Amino acid sequence: LALRLKATVAEVVKKAFLMGTMVTANDVVDFDTASLIAMEFHAKVEKEVVVTIEERIIDDSEDTDDNLVDRAPVVVVMGHVDHGKTSLLDYIRNAHVTDTEAGGITQHIGAYRVNINDRDITFLDTPGHEAFTTMRARGAQVTDIAILVVAADDGIMPQTVEAINHAKAAGVSVIVAINKMDKPGANPEQVKQQLTEYELIPEEWGGDTPCVPVSAKTGMGIDDLLEMVLLVADMKELKANPDRAAKGTVIEARLDKGRGPVASILVQNGTLRTGDIVVAGMAVGHVRAMTDDKGRRVKEAGPSIPVEITGLDDVPTGGDTFNAVTDERLARELVEQRKHEKKEAEFNARTKVTLDNLFDQMKLGEVKELKIIVKADVQGSVEAVRQSLEKLSNEEVRVNIIHGAVGAVNESDVMLANASNAIIVGFNVRPDANAQANAERDGVDMRMYRVIYDCIEEIESAMKGMLAPKT
Ligand code: GDP
Repeated sequence: LALRLKATVAEVVKKAFLMGTMVTANDVVDFDTASLIAMEFHAKVEKEVVVTIEERIIDDSEDTDDNLVDRAPVVVVMGHVDHGKTSLLDYIRNAHVTDTEAGGITQHIGAYRVNINDRDITFLDTPGHEAFTTMRARGAQVTDIAILVVAADDGIMPQTVEAINHAKAAGVSVIVAINKMDKPGANPEQVKQQLTEYELIPEEWGGDTPCVPVSAKTGMGIDDLLEMVLLVADMKELKANPDRAAKGTVIEARLDKGRGPVASILVQNGTLRTGDIVVAGMAVGHVRAMTDDKGRRVKEAGPSIPVEITGLDDVPTGGDTFNAVTDERLARELVEQRKHEKKEAEFNARTKVTLDNLFDQMKLGEVKELKIIVKADVQGSVEAVRQSLEKLSNEEVRVNIIHGAVGAVNESDVMLANASNAIIVGFNVRPDANAQANAERDGVDMRMYRVIYDCIEEIESAMKGMLAPKT
C-alpha cells in the first residue's frame, strides 16, 4: 500500500495508528481500512473486479415482475420412520397420476407431479429429511413446503423433532399430516398438543400451522391435505421466469449401462430444452433426451418440473446445481475449475489434525498446538473439560480450547473446527445431521463421550502416540 501511495511504510503505519488501527509492515489491511488510509494521502483505492467463469456463463440476472409467472409448489414429505411417509407418497401418486395419461407408466425419477383442481404440485419422491438435508447442506434450496407426517397413534417421535428443526432451519412452510386416523388408537388432539411444544401451533388453536387428519391407507383426508398444500402455496406466491436459461438442482443421478449418465433434475427457474448445454456439478454436456415423470419424451421443461436427462459426460451428485449455458468451452473450463477446487478441499481435509494423526503431526513439527472445541449438555461439564484438557499441555504441544459451549455439535462448530484445524469433543451431546455431514466432508475429527475421564485419557494417549485404533 505504501508503495502505491508513494509513501514510506512508517508514514502509512503512522496514519493507520492515528486512525486507531495498529498495523505493521507485513499485515494485510482490508479494503475499507486501505481506502481510509489512502484518503489521508489524497489517493483513492478501487476494488478490482474479478469476473469468474461462473459469472461469465451463468445467467444470474434478476427477474422482473413482468416475466414472472406462477409455478407449482415443490413439496417434501418428512417424519418419523414408520409414520407413513412412503404410504402417503404412494397413495397420492396412485390416486392422482393415472396410467391412462398419455404415455402410460409412471417412472421413478426422484420427483413426480400431481394435478389437483387443474393445478400442479411437485412431490420429491425420497421421503425423510436426510435427502432434504444433504441437498441443503450442498446449498440447494429445493422445497417450498414440508408435509410433516405424524402417526396419530404414536405422536411426536425423535425423527419428527429432527424433521421440524430441519424444516425450520430451511425456512419452509410446514403442514402437518396427522396420519393413521383409521387406527383405533388414533389421538389427533394429543399430536396437536405435542406440536405446540415445538412452536407449531395448530391453525384451529389460533396458530399458523395447518394440521390435516389423514389416512394413507384408506385415503381419508388426502384431498384436503392437497388442497391445503395449494392454499399454502398461494400464500407464498411462488413465481419463476420461464423465459430464461434453465437452472435448478440435481435430485439424483446414476450411470445407466445403455444410456450413460442419467440425471433427475428439478428445473427451478427458466426452461430447459433438449439440445441445451448444461453444467451439473462437475458434469457437462448437451441434453440429449428428456423424460418426464410419466415416462414421456419431452422437448422442454419449465419451472418446478422434474425431468430425467441424458447427455452428460459424467454422473453428478444429488444436490448439485445445474445451469443451462451458452458457451460450451467455458462450461468445460468451469468444470475443470470445480474439479481443481474439490481436489484442494480434499487435500485440505487430509491434512486436518485428528487424534489418530496427532502424534505423527507432532513429530513432523506440523502441530504444536492441539485446538479443541468442547460441547456439552451443561455448562459445568464445559468448564470441567476445559480445565482438565488444558492441563494436558506439555513441552511438545499446547492444548487450547478455542470454543466451549452448551448444546449439540452444530454446523457452525464444524465450520470453526475446519477453519482452525481443531477437533471437536462432545459430552452427552450429539452432532446434528448437518454437522455430521460437514465434518465427514471436511475431515474434521469429532469425538463424543459420556464420561469426561474417557476423553482426557484418549487425548492424553493421542498426545503420546498411544491411542488405540478406532474400532
Ligand atoms: P415410512 O417409514 O414413514 O415411510 O412409513 P411407511 O409408509 O412405510 O408405513 C409404515 C407402516 O405403517 C406400513 O406398514 C404402512 O402400511 C402403515 N401405514 C401407513 N399409513 C397408514 C395409515 O394411514 N393407516 C394404517 N392403518 N397404517 C398405515
